[in-house]
Amino acid sequence: MIQVTRPYLPSRERLMHYIDGIYERHWLTNDGPLVQELTRRLEAYLGVDNLLLVGNGTLALQIAYRALGISGDDARGDAVTTPFSFAATASSLKWEGVQPVFADIDPATWCLDTDAVAAAITPATRAIVPVHVFGNACDVEGIDGLARRHGLRVVYDGAHAFGVTFRGESLLKWGDAATLSFHATKLFHTIEGGAIVFRRRDDLERARLMINFGIAGPEQIDELGINAKMNEFQAAMGLAQLDEIDINLAGRAAAWERYDQALSDCFITQSRHPACSNNYAYFPISLASESDLLGILALLQEHGVVARRYFYPSLSRVAALAPTRGLPSAADLSRAESLARRILCLPLYCGVPAEQVIEPLLAGWRYHVGAA
Ligand SMILES: *Cc1c(COP(=O)(O)O)cnc(C)c1O
Repeated sequence: MIQVTRPYLPSRERLMHYIDGIYERHWLTNDGPLVQELTRRLEAYLGVDNLLLVGNGTLALQIAYRALGISGDDARGDAVTTPFSFAATASSLKWEGVQPVFADIDPATWCLDTDAVAAAITPATRAIVPVHVFGNACDVEGIDGLARRHGLRVVYDGAHAFGVTFRGESLLKWGDAATLSFHATKLFHTIEGGAIVFRRRDDLERARLMINFGIAGPEQIDELGINAKMNEFQAAMGLAQLDEIDINLAGRAAAWERYDQALSDCFITQSRHPACSNNYAYFPISLASESDLLGILALLQEHGVVARRYFYPSLSRVAALAPTRGLPSAADLSRAESLARRILCLPLYCGVPAEQVIEPLLAGWRYHVGAA
């Protein structure tokens, strides 16, 4: 079976080099030397300042909301976000007591539509939480302007945007904060893990206390905190991944380019922002209808190819995310809901046998789509 993804594993020797150090030091967690080294190397590689490593990408979102005062004791209100994302984007808000209010997406870029965001803003809105969907840059300039006019915080869910640049600089520099996920299925991973990139140093310092129970010193607790730390074994995996990132990226790029060349005339693909680079994290296609999608999915399955419906269902259809009091907003979310029914992510990882995916897809296209 060809799975939709296969976690990259660095060479054992490289990983053991870092793990040997852990065995010498007996320092396993709590801002250890490997976590510090990974922080420095990721800041340099990504071209950002104020990066904080955390236990996973969902905690990264939760801590970012807390550090920026979007959630927490004094916080009241909503956040405008996209229904076309992984569950964690909206569930992390709801979990933090912030009601997600959905706005529709742009039908070509699949990221939040800035006009729809503007229309969703009310006096209760505190923040905007856009997603760089499949590593494609949001309309960061439009959203930034909107946030400034309305005095709102912006947290970008950059779980897909590792290494993406926008006008030559890290895309993660946009917003009050941007978060990353280093889950095993992501482009760069630490098995489980994540990071927050803050715009301001003092937000980073507050978050640093928050991820370790608010503890500021041996006998001093300065903040309401929780446990969101990354440990040394996670950081060892991250360092070994970073040593081999060029190999990983080259393998993904080759498969991505091959898919693009073979499939982009037959299937609808994402329009990427012209100012943003490609990190080859995903190859999504969209079909003309859900029945076309189900036909293609079944055919791929017969040929041992597991493609996945990312992101389906639309988060606007998830009861657990709806307001507990009051009615869900009446916003028109038809573009997101339609895309969610027609989207498919193809297997993409370093070493994926792309031809074995392309062949049944083209056959399926001729049968289900081309023939219609
Ligand atoms: C993976 C992902 C997350 C969650 O990250 P975890 O590390 O799995 O907690 C959040 N948002 C998006 C868009 C994701 O794809």
